[in-house]
Amino acid sequence: MDTSQKKNPVYSNTDTAKVALSEEEWKKILPPDVYHIARQKGTERAWTSKFESFKEVGTYYCAACGNPLFKSDTKFESGCGWPSFYEPISKGSIIYTPDHSYGMERTEVQCGRCKAHLGHVFDDGPPPTGLRYCINGVILDFVKAQEAEKKYNKEKTTEN
Ligand SMILES: [Zn+2]
Repeated sequence: MDTSQKKNPVYSNTDTAKVALSEEEWKKILPPDVYHIARQKGTERAWTSKFESFKEVGTYYCAACGNPLFKSDTKFESGCGWPSFYEPISKGSIIYTPDHSYGMERTEVQCGRCKAHLGHVFDDGPPPTGLRYCINGVILDFVKAQEAEKKYNKEKTTEN
């Protein structure tokens, strides 16, 4: 996602200032698949995300703005076909909106920083929250916990 991020002036993993762009501006800076999910509330086809059965340790960020959303240790295998988590990284990382579309009563989850559509949350998840955040993989950027790993390895060699 390096090339897209260069074009994206609002992308940041640390800036928490809210992002409010026009749909036209979003269209210019986001790749078409990300734009479709984030801004047009699209849904990727089930079982198409590489993150669905992904087990690497690290952090998931909003692909539209870089906001930290989920940690890999809250990810679980839901069997629903989309990456699933039981808890967001922090209270403010996500916005909840009632969604009555398609004749269903659901709760939409959006990025707390840029309001990108992420997916939905359901109450059939595992403990401790009992929630299942069902998220489109297209809207997730994953960063491996390399820094933590490096530190761990360094400490190990100093001990020896
Ligand atoms: Zn975002």
